[in-house]
Amino acid sequence: MNIIDLHCDVLEKLVRYENANFRNDARLSASLEKLKAGNVKVQVFAIYIHTNIPENEKFLAAARQIEAFHTKVLCEPEMVHITEWEQLNQLEDGQIGAVLSLEGCDCIGEDLIKLEHLLNAGVKLVGLTWNHENAVAFGASEDPSKGLKPFAKDVIHLLNERNIIIDVSHLNEQGFYDLLPLAHNLIASHSNARALCDHPRNLTDAQIKDLVKHGGRMHVVFYPPFIENEKETTTINRLVKHVEHIASLVGIQHIGFGSDFDGMDFSIENLGNAGEYQNFIKALLKTFTYEEVAIMAYKGFRKYANTMNLARG
Ligand SMILES: [Zn+2]
Repeated sequence: MNIIDLHCDVLEKLVRYENANFRNDARLSASLEKLKAGNVKVQVFAIYIHTNIPENEKFLAAARQIEAFHTKVLCEPEMVHITEWEQLNQLEDGQIGAVLSLEGCDCIGEDLIKLEHLLNAGVKLVGLTWNHENAVAFGASEDPSKGLKPFAKDVIHLLNERNIIIDVSHLNEQGFYDLLPLAHNLIASHSNARALCDHPRNLTDAQIKDLVKHGGRMHVVFYPPFIENEKETTTINRLVKHVEHIASLVGIQHIGFGSDFDGMDFSIENLGNAGEYQNFIKALLKTFTYEEVAIMAYKGFRKYANTMNLARG
């Protein structure tokens, strides 16, 4: 079964690792060979800037990751750069769609032109924060009662104007609620249910319902500490419990996946890299019908993205 995955951190590793190669580097959990083995049809590649990179070097670090996206990912003949969502409908057998996202606006500082540069480079999803405070908002590890900052208004306006998806996965709770009525397109690209695992990176039942009420989607993440409290490893069945719980709240059509491969130091048993993706599909098929799983794996997001195009047109 085909998969659309909304989050991986391959680009950060392609820049950081010496002589890294996207095709079959054993150090990558979402290398091209593993994406193929797992039937991943579309992969979103996050630009993630490590917190130890100094403020004045963050934008350059983002530029380096975009360069790696071109020179190491898109140079592979199977890879297709998705710059318009309708391209999802045109992917041929053997092709894999590659989408850019920005994991937190830290690297733009208070400069909207920098954000425009990133959007012009093809970024289609933007998270306002990673876990910490920046010029836009407060991240998931900050005080949950602090809302969006004044600069957020300009950022959200630009993102709406450019029909960009705003990713709420790393945002704190008040920022989330401030954002809901303002954003046109919303997704939690890699978060689970807080009711099953009480971590600030996960969403409460109320947040999940409100997200979907505002047209948003909930893409589950494979990071064990967000599946089972403080666990370094867990099982696929535990992850399926999150899917079942979210489905009971909002229905399967708003659920998708955002593995976070290459952004994790721990992994789920038998789901340690993109090549093992179909193990998750097999487990979901024990609870859900083939059509339901296909909607979660691929069709639901594709429909969402097509609807965005219609809204824009
Ligand atoms: Zn993340």
